[in-house]
Order: sequence, then structure tokens, then C-alpha cells
Amino acid sequence: MKKRLVILGAGESGVGTAILAHAKGYEVFVSDFGEIKAKYKSVLNQYNFDWEENGHTEAKILNAAVVMKSPGIPDTAPIVKQLLEKGILVVSEIEFAAQFTDATIIGITGSNGKTTTTLLAGHILQQAGLNTGIAGNIGDSFAKMVLEKEIDTYVLEISSFQLDGIKDFAPHIAILLNISPDHLDRYDNKFENYIASKFRIAMNQKETDYLIYDADDPVIVNWLEKHPVKSKLLPFSMNQTFKEGAYIENNNLFTNIDNNTFTMATQNLALRGKHNTKNAMAASTVANLLKIRKATIRESLEGFQGVEHRLEQVLKINNVQYINDSKATNVNATFYALDSMSEPTVWIVGGVDKGNDYRDLYPLINEKVKAIICLGVDNSKLMSHFSNMVDVIVETPSMKEAVKIAYKVAERGDNVLLSPACASFDLFDNYEDRGRQFKEAVRDL
Ligand code: ADP
Repeated sequence: MKKRLVILGAGESGVGTAILAHAKGYEVFVSDFGEIKAKYKSVLNQYNFDWEENGHTEAKILNAAVVMKSPGIPDTAPIVKQLLEKGILVVSEIEFAAQFTDATIIGITGSNGKTTTTLLAGHILQQAGLNTGIAGNIGDSFAKMVLEKEIDTYVLEISSFQLDGIKDFAPHIAILLNISPDHLDRYDNKFENYIASKFRIAMNQKETDYLIYDADDPVIVNWLEKHPVKSKLLPFSMNQTFKEGAYIENNNLFTNIDNNTFTMATQNLALRGKHNTKNAMAASTVANLLKIRKATIRESLEGFQGVEHRLEQVLKINNVQYINDSKATNVNATFYALDSMSEPTVWIVGGVDKGNDYRDLYPLINEKVKAIICLGVDNSKLMSHFSNMVDVIVETPSMKEAVKIAYKVAERGDNVLLSPACASFDLFDNYEDRGRQFKEAVRDL
């Protein structure tokens, strides 16, 4: 008899998993509590899968042998609770799909920088001619790629929600970029639970595997002291050096592994800012581990184009640089954005506040920010925090307006930075929509 796989949530990972599972001989049922996007419905129909939307039929779900749950669905959803009570295995896409590939897996997690580092590491590997698949939270479904492509090395962007659904998944090389409070609503508002979730990236690793991590992040370092992992540790740091690991010395980036040293000048890195230097250290450590030619690593780090909505340089108008960092949806990401500004900055901030603590930003605001534009439905918290810190602070619920004000306030040589530190859904569909509207408004100036 065929094993029954039920998929909850018909997005990219759900539909991809359905296709893979079907090919591997599973009986597949797809159920979505909301409405399924037209493009995914047509794929489900094309394969003749049994599927439903706008609700869950318990009888068709609670008889599953295994369930693949989309990362957006919390464990507290009633249907998931029932599955767990019945002892039915509930996994994520990476857990399900990884069992069907022998490729080397590089898994990248952290609170910020996952997409950038995944694309950067993937870029180096591709430039080196390795048959590389880039997937996870990015682009096409990992499951679908496992079925349709012959890949030797996967670079996977992995969120904590994906990690919550693993059982045996073990990347050969794991990167843990940083951990700062985020998504705590999904973790009983306990930071420890979120940290533990991130460390699941290493939980099934063996002595022959690697964990690359930020040794400047006290959250990571303290946790590792109390909860050792089996894999070999490869730290990276801006202010310490290592025999085995990556670091910065005299404005040069070094990675040292097994007496094999890679080095390049930090000023030649295509991506600016301290946080991106860290991302580059992590990515070049992977490249060094995979024994990629040094010239290739260097050229790839010099030539990387950057990622949309992450400190993306939009346009220079009247010698004012407009920068789109719409993906900065938490304080930590905005911290690094402000930190990387070397000119006086007009800062556009705001949206849905996730319980932000803005105090970390104060020194950077004092040093770099000349004007603040609060862009949100409710700007009261921002106004009360920042009113005394800058001469100019205004609020508006319109992106067009925000950009017009920025244009008036900014002077030659300044930056205008959209780095909201907040979620976007008060005024926009998502952070991409917010970033696109910003760019459009800038282009219309
Ligand atoms: P993620 O996929 O983890 O959300 P992104 O690469 O999309 O990360 O970047 C999200 C935001 O965080 C952007 O504003 C980016 O400039 C910033 N960022 C990128 N790398 C780091 C890092 N290592 N530490 C802190 N912030 C970062």
C-alpha cells in the first residue's frame, strides 16, 4: 500500500514536496486553510493531485503516515495540535526532501543575512563550476529541485521554522550567522526557545561535519559553551584571529583551514558594510572548505551583484544616494545598515513594530542620522523615541510622500536610506512591495 503524505499549505514548498513525494510513490493529499494561489492550483491539477482549500478536512489529514507542514503554519494551529497528539510525524520540506539526495548540503541560518550569504556562497560555487543548487527559503522549491535536477552541492537558506520540522536532516556544512530576537511569537515569547531552534541546524551533524559561526555574537558563543556540538567548529570574527576560522587583520579578510590560507583586501569586497564582511567571511570559509581556487573566490566576492531590497543602491539624484533596505524588518538589520552609512543620512523607518527595542540604535542615530521620516500607520512609538534626537522628524503614511520629503531634506553628499526595522504589512503587501514602491517613488522624483 502507498504511504500517505499529507501536505499542509500549498505554497512553493508544499507544491514542490507534493511533486517529489508523488514521484517517490507516496499517495499525496494537499490541504490549505486559506485560498491557494492560482499558479499553484494549476500545478496541483496538472498532476491530478487530491487537494482542498479554505479549510482542512480532518478525516483526510489525520490518517496520514507523515505530514509536511509549510513553515508559515505554527504548531499551535488546531490541525497541527491534533496531528501531534496522535503521534503523527510532522516534518518540514528540507527534512522530507533531503532523504532523496546524496548531494553535499550547505545549510545557512541566522536571524539576518541568510539570503545574502546563501546567494553569495552559491555564487562562488557556481563560478567555480560546481554543479550547485540554491534553494530553501529562496526561489524554487528544494524538493522540486531534488526531483528534477542532478545537483552535487546544495546551498540552502534555512529558517528556524524549517529547522523546527527536522528529524534527521544534517548539513555537511552549517552556517549560523547570528541570533537576535525575532519571531518570538512563535516561540512562547522565550528567546531560549528561538536560540535552541536555530541550533537544530547542528543537532544531527557528526564529527566530520562543520559548523561555521559568528564568534562575536555572545548569544551563539554562550549557548555553544553550554551545549557543545559534535561538528568541527569554524568561527569567524571581526576582532579575534584563529588558527582555524576566518577573521579580519589589517583590512584583509583571512580564512584558515588545515593550513590553507585564503586572503583578500576587504576594500575589494563587492558588498559594503560590516555585516556583509561577516557574510563574506562565512561564504569564503565554505569555499575554502570545498577547496575552491583562491582566484575564483576572490573574483566572486569582488563581482557579486548584491541582492534586491538589501542595502540596494537605487539611484543618485543631485549627488544624493538613495538606498533600499526594505528587507530590514528588525532592529538588528537596521543597526548594520546605519552602521554602514559613511555620509549624513536621511532615514525612513517604521511599519509594524514587533516589540522593538530601539536603544541599540541611539549611538548610530546620533552619529549618522540628520533627519527621520516615520512611515507607518502608527508612528507614535518612533516619534516618542526619536523626537529629541534629530532636528527634523516627520511622519507620513505614504511612501511617495516620504520620498518627496527626503528629497527636500537631503543635501548634496547625503544618503536617503529606507531601513524600516519593522514589518511592512500595515501599508504594503510585503517587504518586496515596500521596496518596489520606494524605488518607483525615487525614480519618479
Ligand atoms: P535574511 O534572509 O536572514 O532575512 P537577508 O540577507 O535578506 O537576511 O538580509 C536581511 C536584512 O539584514 C537586510 O536589511 C540586510 O542588509 C541585513 N543583513 C544582512 N546580513 C546581515 C548580518 N550578517 N547581520 C545583520 N544584518 C544583516
